[in-house]
Amino acid sequence: MDRPVRIAFLSEHASPAALLGGVDAGGQNVYVDEVSRNLARRGYIVDVFTRRDNPTAPEIIDWARGVRIVHLPAGPTQPLLKDELWPYMPEFRDAFLRFMLREDLRYDLLHGNFWMSGWVAAELSQRLHIPSVQIFHAMGKTKKKYQQEVDTSPDDRIQVEMEVIRTVDRLIAQCPGEYHELVDDYGADPERVITIPSAVNTRVFRPVAREEARRRIGLAQDEFVIVYIGRVIPRKDPRNIVRALARLQSWAESVECTRKIRLLIVGGETVEPDPQATPEIGELASLARELGVLEQVLFVGKRSQDTLRYYYSAGNVAVTTPWYEPFGLTPLEAMACGRPVIGSAVGGITSTIVDSETGFLVPPRDPEQLATQLYQFLMEPALTEQMGQAARLRVEQEYTWPIVAMRTASLYETLLATRTKQARKYGVKGKHGTIRNEAEQLTGQG
Ligand code: UDP
Repeated sequence: MDRPVRIAFLSEHASPAALLGGVDAGGQNVYVDEVSRNLARRGYIVDVFTRRDNPTAPEIIDWARGVRIVHLPAGPTQPLLKDELWPYMPEFRDAFLRFMLREDLRYDLLHGNFWMSGWVAAELSQRLHIPSVQIFHAMGKTKKKYQQEVDTSPDDRIQVEMEVIRTVDRLIAQCPGEYHELVDDYGADPERVITIPSAVNTRVFRPVAREEARRRIGLAQDEFVIVYIGRVIPRKDPRNIVRALARLQSWAESVECTRKIRLLIVGGETVEPDPQATPEIGELASLARELGVLEQVLFVGKRSQDTLRYYYSAGNVAVTTPWYEPFGLTPLEAMACGRPVIGSAVGGITSTIVDSETGFLVPPRDPEQLATQLYQFLMEPALTEQMGQAARLRVEQEYTWPIVAMRTASLYETLLATRTKQARKYGVKGKHGTIRNEAEQLTGQG
């Protein structure tokens, strides 16, 4: 191709510009941000389309060299929960088409994120004959299985996921577990599913000396610090960590270990921890009070990515024990900061943590097991250092965003080459003129 390849990244609720840690802002925002930037460094032009949820935000933000964020009108111009957005997806699709026509842009490939943008990508791909790649970030069937009546996803979700899986050209699975979900639970064609694990920015997440990190965030030097960073919601099960803390405390007392044990909880809806805005903080505080460890739990509130290395590095160990986890960026972030991680043996966590080398895998909802592994770190400081170093090394070798971008680019190139061959064989579908005509007809501008 004699011009840069232009990619439309569709991500209806997760904008790279949103501050993370809130109820609906997490790993997907990071993925869209990092993959788009790293693709741009490889010469692609990327427009990230997300829903306009703030009347004062500009329509287009020049986000990084080669990357723009485009806010499309779809539904009320105010923050909404992601589970409320489904009815506005036809509007999102039409706003995309109007933008494309107005700017006279030709997109060579659509990259859908999450099931709703997947629907938009599938629609556009089918109607405009643009190749499409989809990454779900989380699957509806798994969510239903684990969350049951608290799952607020729209009823159509699983049906729509099935349609998207049938329609798009390629599917990205973030880990072997997700590959099996797609192929075994949803019947995806294995030939069209490519596993590309997500990653961590090793320049942003890097080890800081523990002493310096603790000084920076105002923690005492001699404490044993357990760190949880992530959304403060029931599914991530921070209550499991509070329960484990109580057990650990009693075991430490029984062997007359007087070192103070501290649990840091970073995340929530607001920068100041607020149980009104983040009800789970209130739940955790009551539980900790009941178990006699409230004074040891420090609620930090949400923090920006560029300060998180101090929180991870202040810890002796990071913990994440969700009920389930499609991929889980936070274990990688802790590892990149040279800290060992104890994580639930679920989803992507089973492949990022190497059990007994870079941390430990424990069953979810099992505070006893978690406390057992924490106790080992409490008693064996050398183990913490050794596993922390192994963790950083693993991340550098396997889990960086340039590696993800390289694999994604190779997927794009294969797909585009196949499409070019097909276009030569079967005719002009997919040429710019055809795409324009079809888009004009769809928006009634023809
Ligand atoms: N995060 C953040 N600030 C916070 C809490 C969390 O930036 O106060 C980020 C965290 O660093 C990670 C993301 O939110 O990059 C959470 O991603 P993960 O895949 O672990 O879980 P998800 O939230 O997508 O379920």
